[in-house]
Amino acid sequence: MLLGVIADDLTGATDVALMLAREGMRVVQMVGVPSSSTQFPSADAVVISLKSRTNPPEEAVEWSLLSCEALINAGAQQILFKYCSTFDSTNEGNIGPVIDALMKRLGTPYTIACPAFPANGRSVFQGHLFVGSSLLSDSPMKDHPLTPMRDSNLVRVLQPQTTLPVGLVPFATVESGVDAVRSAFEKLAENGPVIAVADAVTNEHLRILGAAFAGQKLLTGGSGIAIGLPANFRQAGLLNTTINVSDFVAPKGYSAILAGSCSAATRGQVADAKAKGVEAFEIDPIALAENRLSAPTILEWAAPRLGEKPILVYSTAEPDAVRAIQERYGRDKAGAMVEHLLADIAIGLSSLGVTRLVVAGGETSGAVVSALGVSMLEIGPEIDPGVPWTLAADGKTVALALKSGNFGTPDFFTKSLTMLG
Ligand code: ADP
Repeated sequence: MLLGVIADDLTGATDVALMLAREGMRVVQMVGVPSSSTQFPSADAVVISLKSRTNPPEEAVEWSLLSCEALINAGAQQILFKYCSTFDSTNEGNIGPVIDALMKRLGTPYTIACPAFPANGRSVFQGHLFVGSSLLSDSPMKDHPLTPMRDSNLVRVLQPQTTLPVGLVPFATVESGVDAVRSAFEKLAENGPVIAVADAVTNEHLRILGAAFAGQKLLTGGSGIAIGLPANFRQAGLLNTTINVSDFVAPKGYSAILAGSCSAATRGQVADAKAKGVEAFEIDPIALAENRLSAPTILEWAAPRLGEKPILVYSTAEPDAVRAIQERYGRDKAGAMVEHLLADIAIGLSSLGVTRLVVAGGETSGAVVSALGVSMLEIGPEIDPGVPWTLAADGKTVALALKSGNFGTPDFFTKSLTMLG
């Protein structure tokens, strides 16, 4: 193993696994915190998917350190801590606390924090994160159910989450190239360990940043920051594989879409699928909380509708509706309640013969995949930037498209299933 990746959610893990696979690495994605007895399969990169983004910081730190230990024991030469390209975190963390702990464990004088992912419109300029042409704080992320992001200045967002100073490696330095970037980090770290946010607007910037971190033990960022890493290993003569995803074959069976994301892109995708005639069941969280709705009711609705076409079950709602539910039941309780329901529905659908499952939402995907007991995923063809088809690689018969809420074109749901033939 050359590179070990610790991702704070499942769709983020799939996203970075796809990035590395496209750059020529043999990648395996593992689900959940590894134990000391976990056997890693042979691969150039192993991506561990945690579900730690919104957990208490101590838990996120503990799981990340256990993952780091397991990856290093399996031979990883470099660790990448992957978080969301919209820097999703609560006021209490978890990005800062995890970076602190990993830096300490790996003994690194400095590390980078760069969530840029230009292919999906995420860019960092003068330390400010943009989503398309909007600042993060003006983007739909300001209304996220679990991690509302209301400040675009990443230095300011990260500083209260860490005990280390947070600096900035600005655009002009990144434009100047690899040596300038490396010198800037070394200068920032002259008086002790430091984390620096780095600007990146294009993939070329990310490749420069990646090259500047050749041989360093730790990087942190979105999946974009991984783009330059395979080249480092290739240049060092350590990587000479090519991968082929064309032999991806999804198991025959029924198709279903589960949407637990309330992000703007998912709202559009739900509307698009319904407009195209996909039969849909809308989850009413109030009925769920009052025990008037449960998985068996929805499965009874689903069973006779499974056939040639996919079915859609969604809790996706507009920001006002989400706020109302959260005020009534609390943010975490509302989220967990819907996630459990969708996870139970996934189990039920699987026993009804669904083998092709599209899931929208990072947390939602985490809940569904662990309910299905899938522990290892093989990366297949790309549907949209950051979202591949995946195949359970541990004997379970299911193909999964795990979509981070804000990813994908409006026709993502129907397009992804059509792709499978
Ligand atoms: P995304 O990838 O868009 O961030 P996630 O699945 O990570 O999506 O997060 C969405 C969260 O919102 C989940 O915890 C989910 O259970 C919760 N949720 C989904 N629908 C509703 C709703 N109608 N009201 C309140 N919370 C909801």
